[in-house]
Amino acid sequence: SRQFTRPLNDLANQFNMLLSAMAGAERVFEIIDMEEEEDEKEAVHLRNIKGEVEFHHVSFSYEKSRETIQDIHFRVSPGETVALVGPTGAGKTTIINLLSRFYDPDSGQVFIDGYDIKHIKRASLRQHMAFVLQDTFLFQGTIRENIRYSRLDASDKDVEEAAKLANAHSFIMKLPNGYDTVLNEEGSGISQGQKQLLAIARAILANPSILILDEATSSIDTVTELKIQEALQRLMKGRTSFVIAHRLNTIRNADQIIVLHEGRIVEKGTHHSLLKAKGFYYELYHAGTDQFNISRGR
Ligand code: ADP
Repeated sequence: SRQFTRPLNDLANQFNMLLSAMAGAERVFEIIDMEEEEDEKEAVHLRNIKGEVEFHHVSFSYEKSRETIQDIHFRVSPGETVALVGPTGAGKTTIINLLSRFYDPDSGQVFIDGYDIKHIKRASLRQHMAFVLQDTFLFQGTIRENIRYSRLDASDKDVEEAAKLANAHSFIMKLPNGYDTVLNEEGSGISQGQKQLLAIARAILANPSILILDEATSSIDTVTELKIQEALQRLMKGRTSFVIAHRLNTIRNADQIIVLHEGRIVEKGTHHSLLKAKGFYYELYHAGTDQFNISRGR
């Protein structure tokens, strides 16, 4: 298990580096600035988790001069969907960075199933999480290998089953060599939306209890977008999901919306309760979508 010493605020970058570290660097690309990351001696391995997540008065800053997030406090029941909402720079990605332990809190604690994650082995923690981000990490290899990446012992049948659930099977079958089609790192030859479907297939194959989703802001054609939404619903069912949400529909359907502003939680609730409260969420909602960093589509 390894850590990145260089601060990065780009979640996709971090995750891609993590993936390449897990797979063996030579296979993907060279990793820079990494060193061994020590687990505590008494750190536990969690075989199965339910997916309860709690932030207990968490504060954190990347730099001493300024608190990035302050007193973040919330609890999520297993299987719930949480939408993290707020303007750019509000702290959404930072919360995810702390949950996945790319960083540790300066004060407060993060609990999963009642365990302070500081006391969980990192490899064990990340085994229970999957990420679907705006930029899907691909490497030079076949489609099959690219999906199998999340669970290296998966059979061909498992891979195809995951691809079917992810609505990826049909486009894969239309490629010249199907699952044996070779992709390069840029995934040239497949669309942005198709890359997302591959990321969803990977996450389904990984079968995690906790999901991290960073919704795409870029426009994806309507047909693929519908496939993505349907596949995401399948993926999220029964798993605790954190969504850095940009789509109003996602936010409306969330069990819990956490509204962030300048590193603090300003409101929590459902779409209805927050509209009723006529606070910050209500104002952002009525002020228009730009400030909210939300696209109203679909
Ligand atoms: P969001 O995801 O809501 O857009 P972030 O959590 O990415 O917000 O960022 C919160 C604040 O922390 C921003 O002011 C951002 O500039 C700052 N920040 C993010 N990553 C880093 C970093 N690695 N080093 C220093 N500051 C950072």
